[in-house]
Amino acid sequence: MISAKMLKMTEGGSAIRAMFEEGARLAAKYGRENVYDFSLGNPNIPAPEKVRREIVRIASETDPMELHGYMSNAGYPETRARVAQSLNRRFGTDFHTDSILMTVGAAGGLNVLLKTLLNPGDEVLVFAPYFLEYGNYVSNFDGVLKAVPANIAGRFQPDAQALREALTERTKALILNNPNNPTGVIYTEESLRAVAAVLEEAERRFGHPIYLLSDEPYRELAYDGRVTPWPTGFYRDTLVCYSWSKSLSLPGERIGYIAIPPACADAKLIFDAAVIANRILGFVNAPSLQQKLVAECLEEGTDLAAYDKNRRALYEGLTRVGFDCVYPDGAFYMWVRTPGDDNEFVKRAKDHNILVVPGSSFACPGYVRIAYCVSYDTIVRSLPAFEKLAAEYGLSK
Ligand code: PLP
Repeated sequence: MISAKMLKMTEGGSAIRAMFEEGARLAAKYGRENVYDFSLGNPNIPAPEKVRREIVRIASETDPMELHGYMSNAGYPETRARVAQSLNRRFGTDFHTDSILMTVGAAGGLNVLLKTLLNPGDEVLVFAPYFLEYGNYVSNFDGVLKAVPANIAGRFQPDAQALREALTERTKALILNNPNNPTGVIYTEESLRAVAAVLEEAERRFGHPIYLLSDEPYRELAYDGRVTPWPTGFYRDTLVCYSWSKSLSLPGERIGYIAIPPACADAKLIFDAAVIANRILGFVNAPSLQQKLVAECLEEGTDLAAYDKNRRALYEGLTRVGFDCVYPDGAFYMWVRTPGDDNEFVKRAKDHNILVVPGSSFACPGYVRIAYCVSYDTIVRSLPAFEKLAAEYGLSK
């Protein structure tokens, strides 16, 4: 028999995965072009041309023993040094090679950090709504994930007062995802300052570090010229988990990093332990070819204008027929209030071949998430279906 913990997970299933399978079923029945699948955060924009060129060049020019062998569990020093330099140039930081640990995406980075930090029973806080996998990541290391209630009145910015109330002596870390999945909100500098002040006060009160784990796979997906605030300047004990899954459309390649600021509490100990955690979690090291690749593509970005075009068309189309949407500043998600129960809404949307994820899957019922990393054509063709759905709920004017 499998472990009780895993048995529970197989029974619970994943709402997003189930939706994915439902999408395949509907596509087989109605034709793919007649199904509006907004369920997955899988970038639809191909990786930049330079990425393809560099993969070919690196594969053909690099000594195979160097390219395919084991390296330091932290990753190639050359890549780590270049990542550190790039961050220092962009954010005025003082990272060096041993501040950077290459990881198997942001998911790998978070698991490495949670393994590094948590004792059984330690609490990890997160602002709702949040990426539900965090609960699994924390329970992997027998920690307890506690949600800070969603700040609906504050348009889903973090609520510092609610954070203050949720902190206890057992709080080891706060996961903060900026730009945010599922809301598309970018947490402002002002919000980060308020969060930092609360955490600093709690560190003094409890007499131990409380780490801010900044989960940033969507960092560069920021619209209208916005810049996602760099968090280590606001709070000393910040550990950053980055990934190229979304910024270079490489989610299957599994490549990211952890950045540990030199001034952070126990920085060297965290780095040394995280390197071991990376090894013994079975990652061993981040994929070697991808490490070589990202070192050459630090200045590359995705086609933000294409996501922006989708964002505007979807927002305009949905608000026109009466939906209440949070206008997204970042990522590629739209967060929409449901007129009534969100699970019921998801079912009714499916009758119009629209697939979206209920807010309940992000610990925030009463909303749905629409992932608009789809073709523009899908957005345009889905709008009449959304209009019918709105009319069913009596929303359309
Ligand atoms: N964190 C958030 C908020 C995400 O949305 C995702 C993926 O969708 C991840 C982490 C995992 O990303 P990665 O592919 O870098 O592991």
